[in-house]
Amino acid sequence: MERGLGTKCIHLEEAEGQVDHYGAISYPIYQTATYAHPAVGQSTGYDYSRLQNPTREQLEKVVASLEGGIDAFALSSGMAAISLMMELFSPGDHIIADADLYGGSIRLFEHVTKKNGIEFSSVDCYKENLEVYIKENTKAIYIETPTNPMMNVTDLEAAAKLAKQHGLYLIVDNTFLSPYFQNPLKLGADLVIHSGTKYLGGHNDTLAGFLVTNREEIKERLRFLIKTTGAGLAPFDCWLILRGIKTLGIRMERAEQNAKVIAEWLKEQKIVTKVIYPGLKEHPGHEIMKRQARGFGAMLTFQLKSRECALEILEKVRMIKYAESLGGVETLVTYPTTQTHADVPKEIRERNGITESTLRLSVGIEDVRDLLYELSQVFAEVSSVVQSEN
Ligand SMILES: *Cc1c(COP(=O)(O)O)cnc(C)c1O
Repeated sequence: MERGLGTKCIHLEEAEGQVDHYGAISYPIYQTATYAHPAVGQSTGYDYSRLQNPTREQLEKVVASLEGGIDAFALSSGMAAISLMMELFSPGDHIIADADLYGGSIRLFEHVTKKNGIEFSSVDCYKENLEVYIKENTKAIYIETPTNPMMNVTDLEAAAKLAKQHGLYLIVDNTFLSPYFQNPLKLGADLVIHSGTKYLGGHNDTLAGFLVTNREEIKERLRFLIKTTGAGLAPFDCWLILRGIKTLGIRMERAEQNAKVIAEWLKEQKIVTKVIYPGLKEHPGHEIMKRQARGFGAMLTFQLKSRECALEILEKVRMIKYAESLGGVETLVTYPTTQTHADVPKEIRERNGITESTLRLSVGIEDVRDLLYELSQVFAEVSSVVQSEN
């Protein structure tokens, strides 16, 4: 019987019993840069930690198993993972990229990848016919679903089918749902990306990134690249992520429960004009997500009546923190305009629907009563300030 994902987060069957770690339940941190050889021409399996380290290998096996990949790569951040992934492409290649993406990915593509001769078409992958953008030199489709921060949902199976027909890689940044709620490789994607800083780590205490694949040729290429470019995750950080993953299942479930309650609550607020959460029935991607994911996640975006309302909320939150990032146990509120998407040109931001009255909430695992209590207080204060100014 295949183990459930909640169990896989805690136990990795293949690795059990292979090595004697004195029965340590917590996988040891191999804080070593290099390894002694038993004899000339022999190796323990580890030669130098840039290539591989046992703690990193353990983490990579866990993440590969959660995503249903043949291999995973642990990098020093999500952006390090995306940068390494871009080394799979050559000058002259063309990539179709989702229009609404994590701001750092847009910045990387615009200011780093393009100068290396790689072309991009920025497309609303959730609603456009992607086929018309495919050119002779197109090599990949790069998407997020749901997207950051507008929560657009792309049909993964349809995108994978199109990619297969045209011999393209489908690359999916799966950070927002984590492998607990969505497994793009199982729906036909070739490569999955995670910012491990977010749900996999889950505690806002370390940065990490992952690439996961089920394609032999991508795996070979990435093993060469991680050894050559050197952004593999350090042993202690690997251990932190391994520890975080143990509770991924219960964290995802609790955060999602909280997010559903908060989304419904926000809908009732006079200063809120729109709540964008795929878990709401009226969200255009709701039905697709029900089919392709096991949950709706805990990220939601909402529009306020005015810029003032948004800024006042950021000023007034206390337990909820005004901070960048997401996916941790703590609830965070983000202002995409000046934080995650500050480097995205204003026209593109506005085209995607991000305005100065847009806020993004990463719902944590606190008692939902306390979250609602804080939000009620903050919203009441904001309403009175905004009214008295008018
Ligand atoms: C945060 C994030 C990244 C970048 O990851 P870092 O760990 O911050 O480098 C990439 N994609 C998405 C969707 C993210 O949320």
